Amino acid sequence: MRSPSALVTKRTKPVTPTAADHTRPQPIPRIMAFPRRYPPELIDAVVQRVADARTIRAYGAVTTVARQMGLDPRLVQKWVTKATAPVPLHPSRSAADSRDMYLPPGLLHCRFCHQPMAYAQLHDSGQGYQCQQDCRPRPVDAAAIAHTVGRTILRHAARAIPSTTAPTPPQLAAAHAHRILARITVGATPGDIALTWRATPVTGPGRFDAERGQRIAAARNLAHTEPLRARQLLHDSLTGVDPATAPADPLHAEAANLLAELQLRLGHPADAIAWATYAHHSTIHIHGPGHPRSVHALHLQAVVYRHAGHHQRAYHLYRQLGEHFAATAGPHAHRTLATHATTALVLHALGHCQAARALLADTIATHRREHPGHPATARMTQHLTHIWQDCAAKGHKHQDA
Ligand SMILES: [Zn+2]
Ligand SMILES: [Zn+2]
Repeated sequence: MRSPSALVTKRTKPVTPTAADHTRPQPIPRIMAFPRRYPPELIDAVVQRVADARTIRAYGAVTTVARQMGLDPRLVQKWVTKATAPVPLHPSRSAADSRDMYLPPGLLHCRFCHQPMAYAQLHDSGQGYQCQQDCRPRPVDAAAIAHTVGRTILRHAARAIPSTTAPTPPQLAAAHAHRILARITVGATPGDIALTWRATPVTGPGRFDAERGQRIAAARNLAHTEPLRARQLLHDSLTGVDPATAPADPLHAEAANLLAELQLRLGHPADAIAWATYAHHSTIHIHGPGHPRSVHALHLQAVVYRHAGHHQRAYHLYRQLGEHFAATAGPHAHRTLATHATTALVLHALGHCQAARALLADTIATHRREHPGHPATARMTQHLTHIWQDCAAKGHKHQDA
């Protein structure tokens, strides 16, 4: 397990209460006795304690540690989520705008983990590229990479770059890097790059993009009335795209997402896995992990794995989704609790009957208290009854039974 301290100490954003803190009555306002800014050592210690507690019991670690230390569980959940987030940087609107000035998505890869690197807006107002698994301590400066790549392109292949200004700025050349480069690999510093050139430069405007875009739009319209025809259109627009190796691409991601949804609805979840996985990775790469599209793609991937019977993988994806909702909507929000309830069903499918029942019972109690009268409480309770019946029918001898 990687150390959370390096990530946590980088965050200097003050902890501010969310809107939910004001609208929801808090039974024990212990949090008020603490200062607004928490020392990084305290945050590290809390995150470490939660990690330790999780090695003993999968659930309830945040609540237990928060209670032990007199902290608001929502705050602890926030710290844990931040320390374990795949990319510790927040994309923003300005990031989406300035991203266009740097490298086209999907080109830049890490020499150490060999994975594509994602564009990210840094808290200290710079822009960078970071690995999804945090294999490097800090992101690589985006402007510096774009400058190095752009200068090299101009030196060797200036004619491939459409430009109306002379001399062409390196940044502009970098924005067109996909026309002549198949891959950019970066080592420890922005100057430490290796370029893989395309055999044939890509020229002309995106005529194929326009055609693919039209096919995807047609497929979206047909998805409910003529699903088989829609599926064919999506397969056509993904011709030549290998979901296991294709670089991130907004159109491919959209088509892959639709295709995975369609395969799931047509009863072929196993055929949806590769596309749902590609759509998720690609969307994260383009928009960042916190973007609603990325969260939607994560959810779809979890559903697909669950329906295909890959419960172990589904379990980890639902956990990730639950942590995201807990950090953004709050640990007591309906969708957070609904995700926990589904996680419990996956745990049961994995054969962890007691852990599943404990999680589901906790979730039901919280949901009933936080969302009185919500119909989901009754559904969750039905699921809990089914789990008990299933254990009885299979003759399980659980200690808590
Ligand atoms: Zn890496
Ligand atoms: Zn059982």
